[in-house]
Amino acid sequence: MKLVIVVPCYNEELVLHETTRRLVAVLQSLMERKSIDEGMILYVDDGSKDKTWSIIETLSKETSLVGGLKLSCNRGHQYALWAGLKWASAHSDASVSIDADLQDDVNAICLMVDEYHKGNDIVFGVRKERKTDTFFKRTTALAFYRLMRFFDRRIIYNHADFRLMSRRAMLSLMEYPEDNLFLRGIVASMGYPSTSVYYDRSERFAGESKYPLCKMLSFAFEGITSFSIKPLQLITYLGVAFILIAIGVVAYALYEHFTGHTIDGWTSLLVSMWFIGGCVLMACGITGEYIGKIYMEVKHRPKYFIDKKVNA
Ligand code: UDP
Ligand code: MG
Repeated sequence: MKLVIVVPCYNEELVLHETTRRLVAVLQSLMERKSIDEGMILYVDDGSKDKTWSIIETLSKETSLVGGLKLSCNRGHQYALWAGLKWASAHSDASVSIDADLQDDVNAICLMVDEYHKGNDIVFGVRKERKTDTFFKRTTALAFYRLMRFFDRRIIYNHADFRLMSRRAMLSLMEYPEDNLFLRGIVASMGYPSTSVYYDRSERFAGESKYPLCKMLSFAFEGITSFSIKPLQLITYLGVAFILIAIGVVAYALYEHFTGHTIDGWTSLLVSMWFIGGCVLMACGITGEYIGKIYMEVKHRPKYFIDKKVNA
C-alpha cells in the first residue's frame, strides 16, 4: 500500500528541513517493517511569502520521497489540506495529514498505519494533554471544543487535523461540494470504521503560530456556522422565551394598572428597548451569516489553483 503524508505549509522555512528528516525516518521505518510498500511526503505550500517553496523544491531534488504542490495564493490551512488530500486520493491508498511544525508526534503515524491495517478507514490523532500549550491556547481550545460538541456531538475532542484517511474516505470527502470547509467536522461525520490514537503534543519546533487570535476566532465561528444550524434554532428558543416573559410582563402591567399604582416607566422602557433591539440585531446577524454562506455556496467557486508541482 502507498501512504502519502500531506503537510500544509505557510511560511514554514524554519521547520521544513527538520520536518522532512523526521517524516522520512518514519516512512523508512514503516517500509522496513513492511507496513507500507511505498510512501511519500507531499508539502502543500499555501502561498508562503518566505523561502518555503524553494526549500520544498530543493528537498524534492534531494529525495524522491518529497513532493510538493504550490497554491497560487494563501487560501488557509483547510483549503491547503484539501488540495493535498485531493492529490493523495488519486495517488495513494491512504494519507496522513499533519502540520508542518512538528507539534504532533510523528511516531503516532506508525500507530495510525497499524489501525489502518486492522480495517479502519479513518484514524484520528487525539492529543492526550496540552501541557506545552500556553494557558491562553489551552483555555480557548477547551472552550472551542466544548462549544463545538454542544453544536454537534460527533466532533472528536482534542482532535485537530492530524489523521489517517483511507482512499475510500478521501474520495468520499471529495464528494462534499461545500466551500466553507471544516474538515474535522466533515470527516467525523462520514461514518466509516474509525478509531483514535493518542499522543503527547509538543511545542512548535520553530517559527511562530500561523493562527493568531483573530484567525482562531474566525475559524471557530466558521466551524460552527458551516457545520450546524443550531444557532438558528437557538434564536427560535430565545423567541419563545421572550414571548413567555412578555406574557408575565403583561400580567404584571395589568395588575399594576387595576390596583391603581402609577409607575415610573422610563427605566424599564429604555432598558427593554435596548435589550430587545440587541436581540433582534443579533438574530439578524446570525441569519445573515447563513444567507452569506448560501451565497458563497451557490457561487461554487473553485477551491484552489495549483501553481507549480514537483515530484507530484
Ligand atoms: N497553515 C497553512 N495556511 C495558513 C495558516 C497555517 O497552511 O494560512 C499551516 C501551517 O503551516 C501549519 C498548520 O497549518 O502547518 C497549522 O498552523 P499552526 O501550527 O501555525 O497553528 P497552531 O498549531 O498554532 O494552531
Ligand atoms: Mg502548530
